[in-house]
Amino acid sequence: MLTRAGIELTPLRLCVADVLSGEGQALPAADILARVRERHRANKVTLYRILDLFVEKGLAFRHSSGDRAFRYCLGPRFSSRAHCHAYCVRCGRMECLPAPETLVDVAALGERMAMDVVGVEVRIDGVCAACRKAAGEGGETDGPVDAGPGNN
Ligand SMILES: [Zn+2]
Ligand SMILES: [Zn+2]
Repeated sequence: MLTRAGIELTPLRLCVADVLSGEGQALPAADILARVRERHRANKVTLYRILDLFVEKGLAFRHSSGDRAFRYCLGPRFSSRAHCHAYCVRCGRMECLPAPETLVDVAALGERMAMDVVGVEVRIDGVCAACRKAAGEGGETDGPVDAGPGNN
């Protein structure tokens, strides 16, 4: 994956890629650093350089979100293709979703706008299942919430 992107392999870069690929969600740099540090000695500056490199090479995506932190992801199943995100405005979790083609008819949209579409970014803002559930347990019932097997 890294060599295909033209990135020289180092243990730390592999580790960062591994952390990102295992997530299926976009993580703030601080969280990535914490996870990388479970396995490697790494400092913040080095990590940011690696993330910048990944973004520059099209391997990772950088997202600005509601709060101050940039988030990074590789996308679902390592695909460095455009994909969508669901952002929870309560806890800040940013889940990676499939490519926009499944949600938006990109071709039709491009035609209508007479645009040659090179990228699509869709972000769905809302309150995630876990946060809805937490709110529900606090008294207000919002109907049945199927939280699903979240892995956090
Ligand atoms: Zn949430
Ligand atoms: Zn993503």
